[in-house]
Amino acid sequence: MNSIKCRNCGLSNFAIENECRRCGSALYGSGGRIAAKEKRARRFSVISLVIYAALAIGGYYLYQSFLKSVNEVNANDAYRVGTQPPQKPQQAGLSRTEYDRQRSSQVGNALKENPSFAAQKQHDADTQRAMQQASNSQQ
Ligand SMILES: [Zn+2]
Repeated sequence: MNSIKCRNCGLSNFAIENECRRCGSALYGSGGRIAAKEKRARRFSVISLVIYAALAIGGYYLYQSFLKSVNEVNANDAYRVGTQPPQKPQQAGLSRTEYDRQRSSQVGNALKENPSFAAQKQHDADTQRAMQQASNSQQ
């Protein structure tokens, strides 16, 4: 039986084999079938290289825009903090809960004093009354 020794790993393969059965390397230089296969493999790797490059470029731009937006947010925040009036000294000593409570009551007052909110509340009360009257008159 004819046999051919793999140049890569030294395994003796049947002469009819084109590739080593252990390591898969070509047994006969660049034969027709193998060459075509290698060409296909090379073209595939070129395509995947292009895809990787496109992904890398896309990822780079995404990363850059992400960094840019983070910088903008940081800049805006720094500007906001810089333009804020300094906190009253007693606020600095408040615990987190007390500070939150104070803040929420401020928001609540702002909502109560908000004319459109008051109008909405009035409208709700009117609607409620009208519905009450309607259901009362049905009985
Ligand atoms: Zn081999």
